[in-house]
Amino acid sequence: MRQRIAVVGSGPAGLTFARVLHRHGYPVTIFERDTAPDARPPGGTLDLQEGLGQLALDKAGLLAEFQALSRPEGQAMRILDTDGTVLRDWQARPDDRANPEIDRAQLRDLLLGPLDVQWGRAVTEVVVPKGTGGVLVQFADGGQEAFDLVVGADGAWSRVRPAVSSVTPHYTGVTYLETSLDDVDTRHPDLARLIGDGSVAVYGVNRALVAQRNSGGHAKVYAQFRAPLDWHTDLDLDLADAEAVRSSLLALFDGWAAPVLDLLRHGTAFVHRPLHVLPVSHTWAHTPGVTLLGDAAHLMPPLGAGANLAMLEGAELAESIDTVGGPEELDEVVRAFEERMWARAGRWASITTAGLERLVSPDPSEALAVFDRVQSS
Ligand SMILES: Cc1cc2nc3c(=O)[nH]c(=O)nc-3n(C[C@H](O)[C@H](O)[C@H](O)COP(=O)(O)OP(=O)(O)OC[C@H]3O[C@@H](n4cnc5c(N)ncnc54)[C@H](O)[C@@H]3O)c2cc1C
Repeated sequence: MRQRIAVVGSGPAGLTFARVLHRHGYPVTIFERDTAPDARPPGGTLDLQEGLGQLALDKAGLLAEFQALSRPEGQAMRILDTDGTVLRDWQARPDDRANPEIDRAQLRDLLLGPLDVQWGRAVTEVVVPKGTGGVLVQFADGGQEAFDLVVGADGAWSRVRPAVSSVTPHYTGVTYLETSLDDVDTRHPDLARLIGDGSVAVYGVNRALVAQRNSGGHAKVYAQFRAPLDWHTDLDLDLADAEAVRSSLLALFDGWAAPVLDLLRHGTAFVHRPLHVLPVSHTWAHTPGVTLLGDAAHLMPPLGAGANLAMLEGAELAESIDTVGGPEELDEVVRAFEERMWARAGRWASITTAGLERLVSPDPSEALAVFDRVQSS
């Protein structure tokens, strides 16, 4: 018997979940707050790991399409000292498929394919009634609908999470300011060479600059630093004023090599991303009819794991649901899925939390040590 399944959120977690169910012919309703796929800038590039995000795409029947779109050369990594000296310069072998990069928009379109998303349907709350009849999803437009299982894949500030957990994300003490370079090969050839095919990173005391090539001649630059959450109010800085943000960042990174600072000088608008996380081993008392995936369940520092885990969880939960008969069986597979997710996500949350401490740290040699350990493993 088919259960009524809804997923809230069409990020990597929600779309992978829905796509794998769709592949098995299992109906699923997808609610998304954004009014269209391109309603917001999609963000930068994601590296998808062989045993995680790529495994999820395989379960969705999309691995060959991913391989055609992704950029293995994007795994290249160069590390500079703040004076511009090259400390490490690592290139991936052409056949290295461990962590190829893909633009978020390309991944979203790949996963969306034939899926029917209800755009512009912001969920405000999920209510688990005492009796039978299903879990209620309530919407900003005042409507509500009932389901046998509601999957919260609605990211860091999930509106589904309060149905199972009272925990909310806390600030890590590290803030990113993200900017973009467009048409980098023709407009900024020196920066294109600096960034190379993949990423360039420069680590200083409690701050870092990282630039990553995206497809189509675009690049993203992330200024990363330790600061109180309200650092900009102390400086009376309007975050919407790109020139004021640029001046403030150039002052923060004063003394760094001129070609490195050019990454900030030529960036377009700046997006403020204070990094929040959930506690490393976030779990909850199993609640029949509701579960969480991805950032909604285990928001962690952005060090290459979040989307990968989100996608694999989506694929695994969908495959488990495809095997169930009645409601008791559904509850059993969700419970087993949660145990597996918590154990794996807890391991990655520990790794990425320690990683963030060392990458944006008082001792920049810590960052090099992280890179060297990853390369030798
Ligand atoms: C700068 C940066 C770089 C990163 N790089 C990587 C990387 O290289 N590799 C990697 O694995 N991870 C990376 N991550 C982490 C990754 O982006 C996240 O872990 C991943 O996007 C989580 O996916 P998700 O589907 O759980 O949530 P999200 O991507 O946040 O998607 C949630 C969706 O839910 C929707 N939504 C939210 N609220 C509601 C609501 N109330 N009603 C309906 N819909 C709602 C949102 O609009 C959104 O579409 C990075 C993160 C950052 C910030």
